[in-house]
This record gives sequence, C-alpha cells and structure tokens, in this order.
Amino acid sequence: MIDILVIGGGCAGLTASIYGARAGKRVLVLEQENIGGQISYSPRVENYPGISAISGAEFADNLYEQTVARGVEIDLIQVTGIEREADYFIVKGKETTIRARSIILATGVCHRKLSLDREEELSGKGVSYCTLCDGAFYKDEKVVVVGGGNTALQGAEFLSAICEKVYLVHRRDEFRGEDKSLLRLQEKENVEFLTSCVVKALNGLEELENLTVENLQTKEKKDLSVSGLFVLVGHVPNNKAFEGFVKLDREGFVEAGEDCNTSQDGVFVAGDCRKKDVRRLTTAASDGTIAAVEALRYLD
Ligand code: NAP
Repeated sequence: MIDILVIGGGCAGLTASIYGARAGKRVLVLEQENIGGQISYSPRVENYPGISAISGAEFADNLYEQTVARGVEIDLIQVTGIEREADYFIVKGKETTIRARSIILATGVCHRKLSLDREEELSGKGVSYCTLCDGAFYKDEKVVVVGGGNTALQGAEFLSAICEKVYLVHRRDEFRGEDKSLLRLQEKENVEFLTSCVVKALNGLEELENLTVENLQTKEKKDLSVSGLFVLVGHVPNNKAFEGFVKLDREGFVEAGEDCNTSQDGVFVAGDCRKKDVRRLTTAASDGTIAAVEALRYLD
C-alpha cells in the first residue's frame, strides 16, 4: 500500500513527492513518458528563485536526482483509470494495479494539435511540436511556425537562426506573445508573417513537402514549399483518465482551488493540469508543495 501516489513526474509531481518522502511516507511517482516534464525542453530557465540560469534539461536532471535521493520510488506506467474503495484507491495501468491511500494528480499538459488530416501520420516526418527538440533537423531549410503566443514567437526566433526561412502563420492580426519578442522577430530578414491565416492542408508523399495556407479574410489559398511545420499553439491537459473520477472544467483541467483539493476526498492536484490562471515552473513547485501538505494532513 502506497501512502501517496503521485501521477506525473514533472516539477509539480516531483516537488510533492519530495515533501511526502521527507515526512516519512511511502511515495510512488508514476510517469508515462518523461521524468522532469515540460521544463526538460526549455533551453534556459532564468526565473526560478535561487537559480540564476540553468538549462531545462539540467534542472529536470537535478530534480530527478534529488527526488530519488529522498527515497521516492519512480515507475514508468501510464495510468488508465482510478477507482475508490472504502479508504484507499486502486490505480490502474495497462498491466498493473496499485493500491494507494492518497493520490496527487500532476499530469501536466501536452501539445495542442491542429487536428488536420495527416497531422498524426506526418508527425516526426516534418510535423513537430518542439523547436528545441527538432529544430536542428531543418538546418538551411524552409519551415512554418503556427501560433501567436510566446512559445511560437520564441520558437520562430530560435528557428530563424537555423533555417533558411521561417513563415509565422497566425490566425489573428494581433499576437498574444510579448511585444519584446514580436519586435525582435520582426527585425529578422528571413521571417515572413502570415497573419489572419491558417494551415488548411499538409501535402507530401512520405514526408511533409508543402502545406496549404488560407487567408481567413480574403479566402485566398496558397501553397508553401516547406519541409517542416512547428505547431506551437498551446497545450491541453492530460486528464482524460480522470474523467468521471474528479470534477474537470470544460477544457479538461481539474477543478480545485489554491488548496489543491479536488472533488474527491483524498485526491489532490498540482501543476499545469489544475484549473488556474498562472502556469509556470514556480507555480508548479508551489502546487506540489501545497498538494503534499494537504495529502499529509489527510493521511494523518
Ligand atoms: P498560448 O499563449 O495559449 O498561445 C497559443 C497560441 O496558439 C495563440 O496565439 C492562439 O491563437 C493559437 N492557437 C490556439 N489554438 C489554435 C488552433 N487550433 N489553430 C491555430 N492557432 C491556435 O500558448 P503558449 O504560447 O504555448 O504559451 C503558454 C504560456 O506559457 C503562456 O502563458 C505564455 O506566456 C507562457 N510562456 C512564457 C514564455 C516566456 O519566456 N515568458 C515562453 C513560452 C511560454 P489566439 O491568440 O488567436 O487565441
């Protein structure tokens, strides 16, 4: 029987696990893919208190080592559902079930897709969701970035230093991202802005060879000959497995206030998968702390 079962091995989940283990509880973290979570893909973290500058990958490595050193158990398992028994929970994976007295949901978010025909099929064959991971594959080639937030603006700037040409396709005339980033991007000679535009089709035999963009105002369509498409249009929560178990909002985020208590007694939530306004590394760590303290209070 696990005292605190943490689902998700990003900053929120690992912070919670450290607090739980230091309080003498048996803590197990289940992660489906990547220990360290989203921050692992960030080129540089400069706003975490006490750390002047560090790469996201190094931050994640340090966090992992710190977690293991505190006696937390970690397993790579994708959770498919949770059931409640009288005073404990049964957490189900594909080939395993685990019993736990309390649970912290810290599953984070994943990349939002454009839901285009062939998007899935061409993923990894021209379609990417991470500039840092895949940008280098497109050295001296032409690429499209979709999105108008900070991730898209910074991603387009990063790619402009590697690629021959970057088209920035955004569905509106105004950008959600910071002016500072936008201004820097507007100065790049190899970046072309296609605003009020959306990608309509992905074309190519085995790999992406070109894509069709439509101007939403003029309805004019044109084909861009590019080998890469970077979809940087925000994130969606990884909470499908908890539908019907805890209350989710319309977008699928777990409903909980700042105390991180979910609608299910004994189940807490931390980090980006929680309904909240500010999703940052620091707020993930904050949530992890609060969720662990609440879980300890519940257990005792
Ligand atoms: P975001 O701010 O939510 O922006 C998503 C962008 O994608 C928006 O411009 C949105 O268009 C567009 N979009 C959404 N769905 C789309 C669709 N189906 N088709 C086409 N376009 C679509 O997401 P983000 O850029 O990933 O940023 C997430 C958070 O992290 C934000 O708070 C951001 O400020 C923060 N962040 C901060 C930094 C930093 O260094 N300070 C760096 C990266 C991210 P609309 O604008 O029309 O809705």
